[in-house]
Amino acid sequence: MSPYLAGRPLFLFVIVEVFMVVTRFAPSPTGDLHIGGVRTALYCWLHARQHQGVFRLRIEDTDLERSTEASTQVILDGLNWLGLHHDGEIVYQSKRFADYDAIIEQMIARGQAYYCWCTPEELEAMREEQKRLGLPQRYNGKYRDGGEPVPGVTPAVRFKNPLEGSVSWHDKVRGVVTVNNSELDDWVIRRSDGAPTYNFCVVVDDAEAKVSLVIRGEDHVSNTPKQINLYRALGYDVPEFAHVPMILGDDGKRLSKRHGATNVLDYRREGYLPPAILNYLVRLGWAHGDQEIFSIDEMLQYFRIDDVHSAASTFNTEKLRWLNQHYIKESTPQALLPQLLPHFAALGVTADETTVLRAIPHYQERAKTLKEMAEHMSWIFVAPTDFPADAAKKAFKGGETAHLLQDLQTRIAALADVNVETLHDAIAACVEANGVGFGKVGQPARLAVTGGAPSPDLAVTLSLLNTTEILRRLQFAAEYIAQNQG
Ligand code: GLU
Repeated sequence: MSPYLAGRPLFLFVIVEVFMVVTRFAPSPTGDLHIGGVRTALYCWLHARQHQGVFRLRIEDTDLERSTEASTQVILDGLNWLGLHHDGEIVYQSKRFADYDAIIEQMIARGQAYYCWCTPEELEAMREEQKRLGLPQRYNGKYRDGGEPVPGVTPAVRFKNPLEGSVSWHDKVRGVVTVNNSELDDWVIRRSDGAPTYNFCVVVDDAEAKVSLVIRGEDHVSNTPKQINLYRALGYDVPEFAHVPMILGDDGKRLSKRHGATNVLDYRREGYLPPAILNYLVRLGWAHGDQEIFSIDEMLQYFRIDDVHSAASTFNTEKLRWLNQHYIKESTPQALLPQLLPHFAALGVTADETTVLRAIPHYQERAKTLKEMAEHMSWIFVAPTDFPADAAKKAFKGGETAHLLQDLQTRIAALADVNVETLHDAIAACVEANGVGFGKVGQPARLAVTGGAPSPDLAVTLSLLNTTEILRRLQFAAEYIAQNQG
């Protein structure tokens, strides 16, 4: 084999290694999975999938007091529900304390980090003094060049941040960002309670996972120069960064619970479909011409992390509802069924699958959420026991209404075969035989069976019930009218 051919596979292997795209989503399990975090995860997922790369998930649970398993579960459920599946094993930072410690000890031995024996009171006094003098508040480097241990104090470990020069990176969203080292201090990498800090763990983990692009919220911009200095100190390759802007509520403040639901699982409970959420989030801070509807394939085709806007975007529930309605309309009844059924259970309604499946096409045009759809359909499974006063006054007025309902009952009872057509004919025959307008029969019959819920064409509406139930409801309404008019 010629040396050229022999060397080729290795050469290719090296290229693949160097250019492998790796992104990661690294939530802290200290609360819900915020809708803003989901957008970050979506951007990470899209970027990795677009480049045949790897999308990793890391649970940043170093804060043992605030991290909970329930919150981790919410994150996993949320991502899974949306189809943002990660590659490989999930990394839990809480399981890596020994690895972090080993690196911290090496850094101390190499003189890249040092023990700081300052007490919290001393640090507080330092800050107060700086405040008084109008200086920026930061660690004054007291133990940078050594110092005597203080009895009774467990030391923290601080990173020796460079004193000179600056840190600069080309952020894929914000452009070039430069920070002078003189603005940074020797930050803590391990607290006196032994816990390694976020800025330390994130660098070690991202470097170990060979993350090529860190996509995260812009609330982390101020951490990035510190992290870049640490990458360099540890001899790691520095990844690229993209800091995506905040999502605001309609009052211009950062989106929070005050504005409504922020936990993505609340959106599932409210009856939103995953493609609607993803479509909404991809557009929140990114555009492709004036296109609003994006399938996953289109997102993969058009999305570019470099095109994400640097200005904050405002959350608009109406637009999300509009998109949700679009995806409800576009879905097949079979695909909606399993997602819709839990909403009946949540309403305490026992629904029959076959009937729900038959009813879905008649409700797809109107419902903006699956919850709304289940609410609108509930009349099928729960017979009215009373009628809204206003609706009853309108639909049940006139002395002949009870009689008309009974006539309709008789005609339906006589049908050999009950289906949309025969029901339609029975209604028409009732209208004709009694010499009244359609509304005289249609309005009270509709109210009788649905109790006033939104419903499709009357014959279709009736066809969603079995014959016994139609007759029972018409009879109940006829008696109700007799009683209330008597
Ligand atoms: N754990 C951090 C957070 O939830 C994310 C850090 C990062 O992406 O670097 O805000």
